[in-house]
Amino acid sequence: MTGATALPVDWAALAAEIARVVGVRPHRDEPMARHTTMRVGGPADLLATAHDVGQLSALVRFAREAAIPHLVVGRGSDLVVSDAGVRGLVVLCRAEGHSIQGERLIAEAGLPLARAATVAQRAGLSGLEFGLAIPGTVGGAVWANAGAHGSDMAGILESALILRADGVVADEPAAALALVYRDSRLKLIGQGSVASGGPAEVVLQATFRLTPANPAEIKGRLDEIRRWRQEHQPINLPSAGSVFRNPPGDSAGRLIDACRLKMTRVGGAAISEMHANFIVNDRQGSAADVRHLAEMARAEVARRFGIELVYEVKFVGDWSNWGQEER
Ligand SMILES: Cc1cc2nc3c(=O)[nH]c(=O)nc-3n(C[C@H](O)[C@H](O)[C@H](O)COP(=O)(O)OP(=O)(O)OC[C@H]3O[C@@H](n4cnc5c(N)ncnc54)[C@H](O)[C@@H]3O)c2cc1C
Repeated sequence: MTGATALPVDWAALAAEIARVVGVRPHRDEPMARHTTMRVGGPADLLATAHDVGQLSALVRFAREAAIPHLVVGRGSDLVVSDAGVRGLVVLCRAEGHSIQGERLIAEAGLPLARAATVAQRAGLSGLEFGLAIPGTVGGAVWANAGAHGSDMAGILESALILRADGVVADEPAAALALVYRDSRLKLIGQGSVASGGPAEVVLQATFRLTPANPAEIKGRLDEIRRWRQEHQPINLPSAGSVFRNPPGDSAGRLIDACRLKMTRVGGAAISEMHANFIVNDRQGSAADVRHLAEMARAEVARRFGIELVYEVKFVGDWSNWGQEER
C-alpha cells in the first residue's frame, strides 16, 4: 500500500461507483484498529467487505482498473497498520464458503484457518490441526505459508485459485506457489507491487489434500494444540503473533529474552512476559508505539549479538511521517 495519492480523490463518488459496479457499498474512513488483531491502525479511505469469491475478485479488479491503491486484508493478524491509516481501498475478505469433497477441503480465501481445522476434524480429515492456532484466513495463510507445530501450508495445500496480476484466474498447483519458510510467490510478488498498492496476486480459494483419520483422535490433537498455545503465548491480549522471523538456527524470542527486554514498554505496547517475540498492545497503544518498541528490540539484538532480525509482521498503510512524531 502506498502513502498519499497524487491527486485529491472524491472518495464518496468512488464509493458510490464501487457500489454501482460491484454491488458492495464501501465504508468511508473505517478505523483499521477494528480489523487487526493488534488493534492498531487509523482510517482506511474506503473499506469494502467481500462475502464471496465473486465480490473479492470484482473489488480487486475494480481497484486495478481504476488504478486505486488497494490492500486485501484477511483477519489482519500479521499486520501493523499505521496510525495515519490506509490511503485507497481496503478489501476485507470474508468469503468463507467451504466444502468437503472426499479427502479434500475446498475453502474460500476468507475462511478462518481455525474454522477450517474444525471443519476438517468433523469430516474425519487430518492435516490441518495446526491451523487451529493461527488466527488468520486461508488466503493470508497461503500468502505467508503459515505454519505451526511442525506443519505448514506447503504440506497440505494441493492447489489455489489465484487472481493473477494479468487478470487471469488460474488454478495453480501448490508447487507453482514457491512455498518455503513463511514465504510464497504471492508474498514476493506483492512486495514488488507497491506502486499499485495491494498484492499483485490474490488467493481466491484453496484446496487442501488431507488424510482420513479418527475424528476423536484429531480432536485430541486440536485440544493439545489449544492447551500448548494457552500456556506459551499471550493469546488473550492484542498482538500480531511473532514480530520477527527466527534467524537460521536460532529463535528471535530467545535473542530478545537474552537482552532482558521482556516487559519493556513503549506507550501502550509491551514485549510480552510470556513470549519475547510477541509485542502485546495491552494498554491501547498506537501503531507507532508498536513500531518503536520493535525497532528498539531489533537494535538491541543487533548490538548484543550482531544479528539483524527480519520482520515477520508486515507494516502497512501510510508510514510517511513515522519517526517524526513527538514522543
Ligand atoms: C496470536 C497469534 C498467533 C500467531 N501464530 C502464528 C503461527 O503459529 N504461525 C504463523 O505462520 N503465523 C502466526 N500468526 C500470524 C498470522 O496469523 C498469519 O500470518 C496468518 O496467515 C495471517 O492471515 P490473515 O488473514 O490475518 O492475513 P492479514 O494479516 O490480513 O494479511 C497479511 C498479508 O496477507 C495478504 N493477504 C491476505 N489475504 C490475502 C488473499 N486472499 N490473497 C492474497 N494476499 C492476501 C495481505 O494483503 C497482507 O499482505 C499469528 C498471529 C497471532 C495474532
